Amino acid sequence: MRKKIVAGNWKMNNDIVQSKALIEGILSKKPETTATKIVIAPGFVNLQAAVEQTRDTGIIVAAQNMHQAESGAFTGEVSVGMLKGINVNTVILGHSERRQYFGETNSILAEKVNTALKHNLTVIFCFGEELAERQSAKHFDVVETQLREALFHLSESDWSNIVLAYEPVWAIGTGETATPEQAQEMHAFVRALLRNNVGETIAGQTSILYGGSVKADNAREIFGKPDVDGGLIGGASLKADDFLAIVNAME
Ligand code: 13P
Repeated sequence: MRKKIVAGNWKMNNDIVQSKALIEGILSKKPETTATKIVIAPGFVNLQAAVEQTRDTGIIVAAQNMHQAESGAFTGEVSVGMLKGINVNTVILGHSERRQYFGETNSILAEKVNTALKHNLTVIFCFGEELAERQSAKHFDVVETQLREALFHLSESDWSNIVLAYEPVWAIGTGETATPEQAQEMHAFVRALLRNNVGETIAGQTSILYGGSVKADNAREIFGKPDVDGGLIGGASLKADDFLAIVNAME
């Protein structure tokens, strides 16, 4: 059985007061037990407080990025050891905003993934095509290259710590979602890639999340598709009620 996961990527939103209030809102309203794993990804400076606030609640706190080097002269960067030191054991890597604004290439991402896995972090690995790539019917090729260059060197045991998140760039923050059929089509394509390149077991076990303008009112239909195992939520993860409605849509 694949894990169902709903993750909130807060991006560069929420100071410490807002972060604590949002977590409080989630904790006060979340169902006692959920079959769905709930992940939140606050900004770096709010991670430690988030870990403490969510202790023993079942909520997983993730970082939004980390550097590929284990330590060194990289002013302003955050290492895997710094994350582990505050009990953050999950990291989002490869988000399109990191690729677009911070120059993260597939090969840099391969290094980041290696460093994260070496230290037993779980990686939520994002990938997805831009609008022009979809319009010119290159989306499957683009996604295949992203996955091949960043992940296909991994061993079978490495894959147990990888969660995939398909985020078509044209659907991020635009209010335009992929249709449930477009999401399913790409997720099935990715699962077939895994089957052919990594093996049947990994293909069957790897959770593939969809991200891009998921809201309470479209989540159920997208999550209803057989190869969609959850969501990576941006804007709608910033309000506890909206986020929990999306979690409930996964249940
Ligand atoms: P939105 O839900 O705001 O479109 O963002 C999606 C996303 O980028 C999650 O990582």
